[in-house]
Amino acid sequence: MSDAVHRLRERLHTLYDLKSIDFLLGWDRETMLPPEGVAYRADQAATLARLIHAQETDDAWGSLLAEAERETARRPYDSDEASLVRVARRRYERARRLPEALVVEASRVASAAVPAWQKARATADFALFAPHLARTVALQREQADALGYAADPYDALLDGFEEGLTAAEVDELFARLGAGLAPLVAQIARRLDAVDASVLAQPWPVQAQWDFGLAALGAIGFDLGRGRQDASAHPFTQALDPTDVRLTTRLDPDHLSPALFATLHEGGHGIYEQGVPKAFGRTPLGQLASLSAHESQSRLYENLVGRSRPFWRHFYPKLQAGFPEQLRGVDPEAFYRAINRVEPSCIRVEADEVTYNLHIFLRYELERELISGRLAVESLPAAWNARMQRTLGVTPPDDAQGVLQDIHWADGLFGYFPTYALGNVLSCQLFARVRAEHPDLDAQ
Ligand code: ZN
Repeated sequence: MSDAVHRLRERLHTLYDLKSIDFLLGWDRETMLPPEGVAYRADQAATLARLIHAQETDDAWGSLLAEAERETARRPYDSDEASLVRVARRRYERARRLPEALVVEASRVASAAVPAWQKARATADFALFAPHLARTVALQREQADALGYAADPYDALLDGFEEGLTAAEVDELFARLGAGLAPLVAQIARRLDAVDASVLAQPWPVQAQWDFGLAALGAIGFDLGRGRQDASAHPFTQALDPTDVRLTTRLDPDHLSPALFATLHEGGHGIYEQGVPKAFGRTPLGQLASLSAHESQSRLYENLVGRSRPFWRHFYPKLQAGFPEQLRGVDPEAFYRAINRVEPSCIRVEADEVTYNLHIFLRYELERELISGRLAVESLPAAWNARMQRTLGVTPPDDAQGVLQDIHWADGLFGYFPTYALGNVLSCQLFARVRAEHPDLDAQ
């Protein structure tokens, strides 16, 4: 390895170790943190955000990157070294555009907004969360201005999750998807009684759900020696390194689907992270290629694998053994139909494959309006409910099941939601290719 690239890599290791410690604090906040520890966790996270920002915007990167660029100028574009230098340069330029005060403030605001959102959601009281969200939106706008954009401030935020993607491109794709989905959803909504999914809505012992989930994770290839699963209000995956990948799931004692499909979904994310070559760990090459690429893996395992007949041909007897009472006399085909039932509903993470993207369109439109200032935070719940009624034909019974259901806005993740729909599209494209290349896939 050339000298400057070697020194660059050493510096990146320090930076990514700090970042992974920040990830670990975030994971802990969602899974383990006692309620009274929230304020101190905010202090810790802000200190770390300051250290990370100082580290990643240090002037020393400039000359080191320039040296490494000269050394790798003749390497192929896709070679590990040229890629490392190119991606490190991009991250550096982006970080340099954000002032330290803004980064620290964003960390502080998110540290207070997430627990406020949790409380607001638990009590279905949007007013508890509204001031935090207003502050978050203002900061997002400041970040977009600092990062710079050509046409739309939203583009600057989108670029943080999906490099180079613009709102204009998302608009075009979503318009095409929506034109196909709307009549399909309307058609299905007229025949909701065609599939009976009541078997899923009954008491399911949570320990048995947990055990089945872990067994399924192991069987689909998630390595529990290099990862673990815990419970959280909002399922997520946090990878620290390919050797330490944390998943969470959400157990519902009265319904099988939430934990089962969250586990398969996060398992897909986890398998992607565990598949990162160890040599890329502690560098930006070990981080996700894009959020859409990441989501394509979770949606592939959740829907294309986890809702398929071949999957349940293998797993149904095991599920029946774990839940003899619940599944007595339920034949595999009835179960398969139940888990594939389509019905417009309020909750995104529980939405079926057909209506899921409609939930994303709604969030995408609303967050663009919040960032542009066309929509005020206090008008958000009403705007949410009106749009739910218009696109899905349902109105949330309260804000917990409406505008408060997702953690993303509390966590300052604006520009993130579109990647879910893009991930769905990618998952179908990838799976079609896998099917074409592996005619024996179902048997496997
Ligand atoms: Zn996901």
